[in-house]
Amino acid sequence: MPADIPGIHHVTAIASDPGRNYEFYTETLGLRLVKRSVNQDDVSVYHLFYGDRSGTPGTSMTFFPYPDARPGRVGTGQATTVQFVIPDESVEYWTDRLGSEGVAHEGPYERFGDTVIAFEDPDGLPLELVARADAPDGDPPDGPVPAEHAIRGFFGVTLSLATASGTGSLLKTMGYQPTRSEHHRQRFRAAGDLGAVVDVLEDPEAPRGEAGAGTVHHVAFRVSDSEQAQWHDALVDRGLRPTQIIDRKWFRSIYARTEGGVLFEFATKSPGYTVDEDVDELGETLVLPEWLEDRREEIESNLPPLPVAPREA
Ligand code: ZN
Repeated sequence: MPADIPGIHHVTAIASDPGRNYEFYTETLGLRLVKRSVNQDDVSVYHLFYGDRSGTPGTSMTFFPYPDARPGRVGTGQATTVQFVIPDESVEYWTDRLGSEGVAHEGPYERFGDTVIAFEDPDGLPLELVARADAPDGDPPDGPVPAEHAIRGFFGVTLSLATASGTGSLLKTMGYQPTRSEHHRQRFRAAGDLGAVVDVLEDPEAPRGEAGAGTVHHVAFRVSDSEQAQWHDALVDRGLRPTQIIDRKWFRSIYARTEGGVLFEFATKSPGYTVDEDVDELGETLVLPEWLEDRREEIESNLPPLPVAPREA
């Protein structure tokens, strides 16, 4: 078996208006646009990546913003909530900030000893800030949120499942072990510092999720280059049907839909977002995989304009 997975690599969700999505994640939440590209399966749509200063695996929240996307329905068979980690002394800063930015929020309340603030992005995607004394210092971006209060990356995700057993068993294989539970929530924990939590909510009566704006498309986990093929075989052994290894330019990926209906990705940490842009220039220009470069003019002319912050001096 390959070594245990330390945590989440990235989470990809569907949005509607790309400009509104950009403003919320960079200005309200203070993340950095670390890659501005297109959906490699539909080049009329952006693929926007937000993260810490250098786009460290475990920090990057990515979106396919379809301007005319219908709202989806958050429900079973999906990752339903994205959890970000903040330092434990930053709770008041964030409740004040969300309030002054006009973002309705619930909490702070306590879950498993942590302080949690819950809110939604402009498309209704459920988000949480989880305050932890062990939040890593990380590599905060320059931006509207002071470094001491910056979002450090993922704490975890919440999966909503009609039946939890198959996905729970897969998570254990991956290195996420069951820890605490309360009500319908079973927490699984891996050993890494970012994205090491998967909470599973089992509810056979809950409505089934429908893809659309404000829903998660897939959750990607970090794997090493040398063990990715072993993960492919391990997924086949479990009766899943993983894709072959796909080169996504900034990482290589395999995808497999879990028994519970959630799409998982197993993505390599390398080469990373700085393979084609200097760290100081991440996100400033549209970057395309080489096989799309000869269509750049056509692709750029079909994309809506996006405000990109001027380069920091
Ligand atoms: Zn992905």
